[in-house]
Amino acid sequence: MAVVLDLINNPRPRHPEKAHRPDSAVLKKPDWIRVKAPVSPGYNATRDIVRANKLVTVCEEAGCPNIGECWDKKHATFMIMGDTCTRACAFCNVKTGLPAALDADEPRHVAEATAKLGLKHIVVTSVDRDDLADGGAQHFAETIRAIRAACPTTTIEVLTPDFLRKDGALEIVVAARPDVFNHNLETVPSRYLTVRPGARYFHSLRLLQRVKEIDPRMFTKSGIMVGLGEERNEVLQLMDDLRSANVDFLTIGQYLQPTRKHHEVKSFVTPEEFKSYETVAYAKGFLMVSASPLTRSSHHAGDDFAKLKAAREARR
Ligand code: SF4
Repeated sequence: MAVVLDLINNPRPRHPEKAHRPDSAVLKKPDWIRVKAPVSPGYNATRDIVRANKLVTVCEEAGCPNIGECWDKKHATFMIMGDTCTRACAFCNVKTGLPAALDADEPRHVAEATAKLGLKHIVVTSVDRDDLADGGAQHFAETIRAIRAACPTTTIEVLTPDFLRKDGALEIVVAARPDVFNHNLETVPSRYLTVRPGARYFHSLRLLQRVKEIDPRMFTKSGIMVGLGEERNEVLQLMDDLRSANVDFLTIGQYLQPTRKHHEVKSFVTPEEFKSYETVAYAKGFLMVSASPLTRSSHHAGDDFAKLKAAREARR
């Protein structure tokens, strides 16, 4: 079977670090995974604003299945600090390598694009920048401040790396006061060495807990993919771990394999199983839960933020 690497538009392979990996079979997607084709005028308008501001989006870099729906509504998630990541997680479609220097104008460009898209809620994420002394925390903070200045009523959600071995980095981002601090656990601890080898489960959990310790009013959020070989009980344990860290919002979505060189899909979790995870998660005390095959961290993030605030108010 042919090796699938992205060579059509790029003469250099997108994932040279994954070239040595054996091919894995790509399972046929079940009926319940259907996505909207990216062909609408709204999609084109979003793409034009992204290009004009020279921005990178996780929607494109991760090959997100929701891009047709989200960009039609002018919802895009900006990925700051370049398109090259210092980690090489087995599930991820973002390319790995030594990233370029930070672009000092990027915070302003993100803010301008947020204004042009008319976003009420913006999600900003990034690649891992283990090469930077602060892991990119200051750049995150400057981006938050630039958006606040340009769009004072827009609420801001950050989806950060783990800032592993970057003392003080988390505090810099929290001090910039995003409305939602999101950091994804991605999978259960038993799958970390295979799926997310550069990360540490308890470090990620502690990062989320620390956000709440610094600012108890800040909403915290985390997400995982299922279908990576995890057991149901492990997912339930992970929910308990997140609740112990006072995390407010849990997202659970189906892992989809970007290429044959990425981690294989071990199973397609049925919509009924997702519903069951959602029910259990609410019972464990999360303020908000989004669990469905096409749930992604930033999918419907604006609408979900409104529900999150309402859920907190309702518990008072
Ligand atoms: S779900 Fe998130 S990453 Fe995917 S297209 Fe929508 S905004 Fe982009």
